[in-house]
Amino acid sequence: MPEGDSIFRAARTLQRALAGRTVTRFESVFPRLTRIDTDAPLRGRTIDRVDARGKHLLIWFSGDLVLRTHMRMHGSWHIYRPGERWQRPHHDMRIVIATAAIEAVAFNVPVAEFATAAALARSPAIAGLGPDLLTEAFDPDEAIRRLEARGDLSIAEALLDQTAIAGIGNIYKSETLFVARVHPFTRVAALSRDTLSRIVSAAAILMRANIRESAAGGILAYSGPRRTTGRADPSARLWVYGRAGKPCRRCGTPIQRRRHGPHARSTYWCERCQPGPGGTM
Ligand SMILES: [Zn+2]
Repeated sequence: MPEGDSIFRAARTLQRALAGRTVTRFESVFPRLTRIDTDAPLRGRTIDRVDARGKHLLIWFSGDLVLRTHMRMHGSWHIYRPGERWQRPHHDMRIVIATAAIEAVAFNVPVAEFATAAALARSPAIAGLGPDLLTEAFDPDEAIRRLEARGDLSIAEALLDQTAIAGIGNIYKSETLFVARVHPFTRVAALSRDTLSRIVSAAAILMRANIRESAAGGILAYSGPRRTTGRADPSARLWVYGRAGKPCRRCGTPIQRRRHGPHARSTYWCERCQPGPGGTM
């Protein structure tokens, strides 16, 4: 599952490439999109801006039309110069938005729909999102209240609930809890407000560091090296994620991994640095 920071970076890259430009060609394999394009053509519209809400990427066109896409597990947006060879096979293409200078191509994006601004604001996908860690307006107190309302969940599950906090995926979930020194399977109800506050600020610091660092952008809009340890060494980028059985970077204890939840997502932690309190599940 992509993390909010990669969507944010994709949005920023697309914003630089597309904002203020006129659409010269629109193509999609989704009939729901091409139907709209037939009725109210994209060609000739201006791309006003591209931004992100949680893990949704929004492309705003002139004439009150917004394209919402969600990457889920395998989706990505790339940008190419006209005629440049794509880095993914043509049959993975889902959407093309071309301008005179750039072709933006969505590959394997499973969720895509057009809406007016008003319909988008009302849609459950957007209206239900919790405070977004990567926006200026992020409200940590509201995020903490929403986490507290999920007292029966483990903190690992609660952090992935986009209606509590928007933007955290599986990698940041494990990294955040390591940095905050909280055992991932602690019930939210067993955590103090101070601890929840520490978790929320750790998540914000880790994710924001990654959107600053990758400001250079690039052709590939969506993947990129992610770092939480602050180390330049590529083999030392993350604290615990993907490191099952390897020694903890802080204390040397082997890192644990457990799959949990409806999608069997892996959680990584250090039993010594993140001791489980009484409420551990
Ligand atoms: Zn440790």
